[in-house]
Amino acid sequence: MNNQSLGGFEMTKYVYMFSEGDASMRNLLGGKGANLAEMVGLGLPVPNGFIVTTEACNRYYSDQMTITPEIQDEIFSSLAEMEQLAGKVFGDPERPLLLSVRSGARASMPGMMDTVLNLGMNDAVADGLAKLTDNRRFVFDSYRRFIMMFSDVVMDISRSFYEQAFEQVKKERGVQTDLELDADDLELIVSKFKEIYLREKGESFPQDVKEQLILSVEAVFRSWNTERAVYYRQMHNIPARWGTAVNIQEMVYGNMGDTSGTGVAFSRNPATGENKLYGEYLMNAQGEDVVAGVRTPFTIDHLQEQMPEIYQQFADITQQLERHYGDMQDLEFTIENGKLYILQTRNGKRTATAALQIAVDLVAEGLTSREEALLSIDPKQLDALLHPTFDPNALEAATRIAKGLPASPGAATGQIAFTAEQATAAKEAKRPVILVREETSPEDIQGMNAAEGILTARGGMTSHAAVVARGMGKCCVSGCSEALINASNQTMTISGRVFGCDDFISLDGSTGIVYEGSIATVKAEMSSNFQTIMEWADEISDMTVRANADTPHDSQVARDLGAQGIGLTRTEHMFFEAERVFLFRQMIVARNEADRRKALAKIKPMQQEDFLGLFRVMDGLPVIIRLLDPPLHEFLPTAEGEIKELADELDITYERLQEIINELHELNPMLGHRGCRLAVSYPEIAEMQTEAIIGAALQAAAEGIVVKPEIMVPLICEVKELEFVNRTIKTTADRLIADSGQPLKYWVGTMIEIPRACLTADEVAEEADFFSFGTNDLTQMTYGLSRDDAGKILETYYQAGIFEVDPTAQLDRVGVGALMRTAVELGRKTKPELELGICGEHGGDPSSVEFCQILGLDYVSCSPYRVPIAKLAAAQSALRYPRK
Ligand code: PEP
Ligand code: MG
Repeated sequence: MNNQSLGGFEMTKYVYMFSEGDASMRNLLGGKGANLAEMVGLGLPVPNGFIVTTEACNRYYSDQMTITPEIQDEIFSSLAEMEQLAGKVFGDPERPLLLSVRSGARASMPGMMDTVLNLGMNDAVADGLAKLTDNRRFVFDSYRRFIMMFSDVVMDISRSFYEQAFEQVKKERGVQTDLELDADDLELIVSKFKEIYLREKGESFPQDVKEQLILSVEAVFRSWNTERAVYYRQMHNIPARWGTAVNIQEMVYGNMGDTSGTGVAFSRNPATGENKLYGEYLMNAQGEDVVAGVRTPFTIDHLQEQMPEIYQQFADITQQLERHYGDMQDLEFTIENGKLYILQTRNGKRTATAALQIAVDLVAEGLTSREEALLSIDPKQLDALLHPTFDPNALEAATRIAKGLPASPGAATGQIAFTAEQATAAKEAKRPVILVREETSPEDIQGMNAAEGILTARGGMTSHAAVVARGMGKCCVSGCSEALINASNQTMTISGRVFGCDDFISLDGSTGIVYEGSIATVKAEMSSNFQTIMEWADEISDMTVRANADTPHDSQVARDLGAQGIGLTRTEHMFFEAERVFLFRQMIVARNEADRRKALAKIKPMQQEDFLGLFRVMDGLPVIIRLLDPPLHEFLPTAEGEIKELADELDITYERLQEIINELHELNPMLGHRGCRLAVSYPEIAEMQTEAIIGAALQAAAEGIVVKPEIMVPLICEVKELEFVNRTIKTTADRLIADSGQPLKYWVGTMIEIPRACLTADEVAEEADFFSFGTNDLTQMTYGLSRDDAGKILETYYQAGIFEVDPTAQLDRVGVGALMRTAVELGRKTKPELELGICGEHGGDPSSVEFCQILGLDYVSCSPYRVPIAKLAAAQSALRYPRK
């Protein structure tokens, strides 16, 4: 709170003149306001103004959507101060002051919220202004703009009524552009606009300028909660409580004639990063015209010919601001009768390619430090360099049909395949498809691999489809409950529309949006800048970044992307291939130790070969291999043919196998016979896996590879479970090492993914060399929210304002975080050298990575394609939360 002692009372100050602020006050003044204030401080040509704070916005909502009389008083006394500075008076026809009223949140939300220009105009002011400027055309042009914006933004009257009336007059006059309309035409338009207002509102257009102002401020506050703003906030993780500020500024007019104009420009090219002024402008226009595309603007280069002095002044200011902020700037400017004004500056939005280019260039030019440059890049943007994206022009024309969860980034387009077989066949025929499933299971892996992208109706951000697709670097939208999928009829129905195998759809795995038809994609491309940024990140980070990789191929991808080890190998994922899943099922359904050992003996060489591959790829780096943790429902056969085949192989009847499958059926498989419980029931499984891991490690070591094997026990809730499984692991490992006659160091640790394990972590640490937080399960169990069903529930929770973000994607610092903190403290109390990491999907999410830095973890681990994101996030976190 910003308390000021006013007349002996502590009062919160809700309104600041530009001269009272600076760039450091962005939280209170919003980004736009803080930067306007900063520019005033730099002596740049900025029109006078003041800011109603973000706290006033929050007050507006807590006061039942009203602006209190005290805040209104503050607004009007600042306005009086502004009148003094401007030498003009609000609402005075003799020397009228007109205002622009614009939103400005803490984080920039381009185009999301509302603006009203030319406020303070009424009939009397229009007359006065016409006399004063001797420019009736300008006056009525401004008045018609004001009526339309005020009607749209403040009164919620559709713009289309006004646009139609405007077009009608243009048609009657036989003209193409607004510039060809003269003062009388515009005056006529103003009177038509007033009629529309009267018709729609049942009252005349308000002539009281103070009322216009307060209503507009309220409208800007309200625009914080429009559907599109809420959606944008959700996408960019902007909390509702931040609120928006309102900037009230003296109007300067780009529509005063041929020596006036307005435009937007970037100090460098925001698409490529090229160090060259980039932008466009229109003469005799106001800002909205540039954005709305009413006329085709000139490129900024043209200004150099048209108004060389203004161009030079603008170019100089742009450079000054870039130097001042140490980052590429996005500016708005207006030229009023040959005089330049800057209306806004902010760090410009840019493509991922440009972000890297600009960061590297700014450091080389000495304009910023490596640290600042790293902080200027949004880690999530790196996705665009690693996965294909939609061609922005093609996307603009696309029709959105549904929305699910953004489970795995990228853009994909293809015909629908309803089964893995269809997808695989399509791949062979070189036909791109999207695999559409209710949910996926290991049987779908080949189809997932063959498809361009995956769409599921069920499942959350840590469901099978999401985790596997992310591992493959494949685009996936999960939990899209609007899609009703009928695999046997080969139909998908969305809002009553039926799609079949011949239909094309497109998925955006970064937003979760599903589009109809095919949309052109743009390939990912990486430059040497990427490498440079990753190197800088490594130098600064406290934590290393490992990968969750299940195969030698995935490990290689991860290492190429800069992984510093493997944080999780899900050994059950090594059985996804058709032939292997068959063997794996033999093991699951074995009803006695002898049968199980028989199945395990067939599996072992495959596992050992895979582990050897991992060690080879990760030469010199740590590799964590987790013992089997298969939620059984993901692996049991369901199709009749598969059950038959397995029964034949096992030499039992179909009925007997069906019986066994029924026995294995669990009501809550996620809380069932999985994790270390499997190794407790069947120690021979842990024994086989340990033999395969240590066997592979010895073999690799013999090849001269530096191996650092870490064996991880999943899903423990009680130290005695770990003690039990450790006995098998250590006896087996030590026997193998002794037999080999070679020394080999190995480590044994555990996943921390059940709340009880966190609460008893001091005991657990007695038995563990390392902890790895399995925040997928930890979140599932802390919230009691199923990983496989979260998608459907979340949508309702967002709408009800209960959740702002998906806790399965972004670590909940409050609840899950408290458990993690407890585990860290208790674990390190027992064993100060305990190695700590995270391998839940949160390990690739920047906000979660930041929390891991705060907790003091040693590493984060994530799917291979998220490694670069996690590395940049780790570096940024180290800068924001340095360790002592
Ligand atoms: C976890 O629970 O966070 C984890 C990494 O394990 P899995 O997703 O395989 O359950
Ligand atoms: Mg788990």
